[in-house]
Amino acid sequence: MKKLVKWLGLSLLAVFMLAACGNDNSSGANGSKDGNNNVEKEENEKLKVVTSFTIIADMAREIGGDLVEVYNLVPSGTDPHEYEPLPNDIKAATDADILFYNGLNLEGGDNGWFMKMMDAVNQKEENIYSLTERVEPMYLAGDDGIEEEVNPHSFIDPAVGVKMAEDMRDALMAVSSANKDKIKEQGDVYVQRLEELNQEFEERINSIPEENRILVTSERAFQYLADHYGLQEGFIWEVDTEENGSPKQIKDLVHYIQEHNVPVLFVESNVDTRPMETVSKESGVPIAEKPIYSDEIGDPGDEIDTYVKYLEYNMELIHDELSKER
Ligand SMILES: [Zn+2]
Repeated sequence: MKKLVKWLGLSLLAVFMLAACGNDNSSGANGSKDGNNNVEKEENEKLKVVTSFTIIADMAREIGGDLVEVYNLVPSGTDPHEYEPLPNDIKAATDADILFYNGLNLEGGDNGWFMKMMDAVNQKEENIYSLTERVEPMYLAGDDGIEEEVNPHSFIDPAVGVKMAEDMRDALMAVSSANKDKIKEQGDVYVQRLEELNQEFEERINSIPEENRILVTSERAFQYLADHYGLQEGFIWEVDTEENGSPKQIKDLVHYIQEHNVPVLFVESNVDTRPMETVSKESGVPIAEKPIYSDEIGDPGDEIDTYVKYLEYNMELIHDELSKER
């Protein structure tokens, strides 16, 4: 076996040398050589796409289908604000044909890990796409209650998902001239699905009794969604990276809950549940039976492994919990 491999290696080397020497000999037809070149070309046709986090990775798989090879950077269960790229990430980012990130400071902004990594791997600026260029930013209060910072969680709102998917479709079409039509077709189907979900979301929220349209969560992640569909929002802390669940934050929320007659509390799948349990105990308001999803989707094969499932799940959960007779 070893001998055969060695022989193949040597004969391949010979073919390469012959090919190199015979460059100017265009009349020398060689069927098998052409065949090899074609195979190599087909393999190279898959676009190498790198994404910053799970939701964008899923969008790329939906829109790109089998025309793309998606490499995702921040995995499920990891904070996209403060990520440290691994050696494999650096390699994928270096080799990528196109890269997508959320923007709105989700990846730490201009001085965050993602932009630093782009500088380090020398990626061309025209290959790097923020998917929130057309999103009007909303702001959080800082630690001092005055300083404002951008809320990165716009993707929780399906209307923003529509814009992100449209921008991704257009960017992929631009770099993939050979498969432009296929990408447009797949992208249009996906955008259409998200638009329908946006409609459904609106209908479901509007069917909740008006006095119950209040969404209380641990982190203030649902600001865009709440603003869009007319939900009031309550929360323990503004953003995951700051102090989470101090006695003052808990006291403030309990006060808010009593003032607004909040029917139920929601806890995100990716946060410490204890602060909300304390709020529930002190206010006497129950916690929803199932967690709500905010910052991520699961790995392929998990219950919530696509953005569409994530939106459908949150929509049902919010509707059912806020409509219950209590
Ligand atoms: Zn978050």
